[in-house]
Amino acid sequence: MATHSLLILPGDGIGPEVMAEVRRVIDWFAANKGIAFDVSEDLVGGAAYDAHGTPLTDETLAKAQEVDAVLLGAVGGPKYDNLDFSVKPERGLLRLRKEMDLFSNLRPAQCFDALADFSSLKRDVVAGLDIVIVRELTSGVYFGEPRGIHKEGNERVGINTQRYTESEIARVARSAFELAKKRSNKVCSMEKANVMESGILWRDVVQEIHDTEYPEVELTHMYADNGAMQLVRAPKQFDVIVTDNLFGDVLSDCAAMLTGSLGMLPSASLGLPMANGKPKAMYEPVHGSAPDIAGQGKANPIACILSFAMALRYSFDEGEAADLLEGAVEKVLADGVRTADLMGPEGGTPVSTTEMGDAILAALDAA
Ligand code: NAD
Repeated sequence: MATHSLLILPGDGIGPEVMAEVRRVIDWFAANKGIAFDVSEDLVGGAAYDAHGTPLTDETLAKAQEVDAVLLGAVGGPKYDNLDFSVKPERGLLRLRKEMDLFSNLRPAQCFDALADFSSLKRDVVAGLDIVIVRELTSGVYFGEPRGIHKEGNERVGINTQRYTESEIARVARSAFELAKKRSNKVCSMEKANVMESGILWRDVVQEIHDTEYPEVELTHMYADNGAMQLVRAPKQFDVIVTDNLFGDVLSDCAAMLTGSLGMLPSASLGLPMANGKPKAMYEPVHGSAPDIAGQGKANPIACILSFAMALRYSFDEGEAADLLEGAVEKVLADGVRTADLMGPEGGTPVSTTEMGDAILAALDAA
């Protein structure tokens, strides 16, 4: 059986606390399901700056490029706020994404039944929701040239350029179709082809990749503004949504809030396939280092645990193990186990980070 190599980068703040629970989950799968992991751990962000004067060493980056998957906790904190921009903790994360060329950002929005009342939308609109937004991450208007602010006559002009090449669109489209094949075989592509040439090209290329390589997947197109409306009107109509960097930024935050707490949201960033056919990959919770609760045992480890579940599914081809882990999380929530961020108006006693880990391990034992 293949050994899955995993580089763990806990980072700062609550990063090490939530990652400690993931380590226990990894050990559980190794001991109980015979899944072989080769786990190494290293520093990133402020922790790496404290030890090495840089938020990401070349050695750590080299390791990240070699492993099957990287799992990152969170970086940053007030201690580092006044550092020079070039060595800020966040630069470590951005360098990893850039050097690994992680162009496809998967942001699932899954609403566990037990938490449906946390959403700002009605329970029946969100209960059971399970969609993934695939956002192009390394091109588009955040990177296009020309950019800047300059003077024209008496006033300043701000410029950013939306720019996509065919190959940039094609590779993220493939990533979305591959994902759809592992889910419900359905992709909706969002752009604004009605008013943007880059949108026309986006639509054409996505359709072309579909027709030539993935004709078995159902593909629809939608203008991104309508997509935003549909996401809050009837989000369950979607399965996989693929879109550009800017629209993806906005739509994935919107979709995230359908599900309730920031402590619940995992993500994956994927690159081109490696020699073994699997994409380069980094998995991380959407939340940051939460300095306001760091060191207090209050952090919800579920986002990080679900990020590991994504690694099981998308990097390690251990779909059954991923289902088992997601099922354990669902069971624990249905049983009413709650960290402080998940406490509703009805109150109750929150569990600690470790107690949430205990409950998930117990649910795995019982499954
Ligand atoms: P944050 O996500 O760290 O926290 C926002 C709020 O959500 C806080 O009240 C926090 O207590 C709560 N929260 C977040 N995760 C939680 C969890 N797992 N369980 C319970 N509560 C949780 O965002 P912020 O406060 O804007 O940023 C704090 C630091 O994190 C900053 O230095 C920022 O730059 C950094 N940051 C890092 C990442 C990353 O590493 N990917 C992402 C966002 C922010």
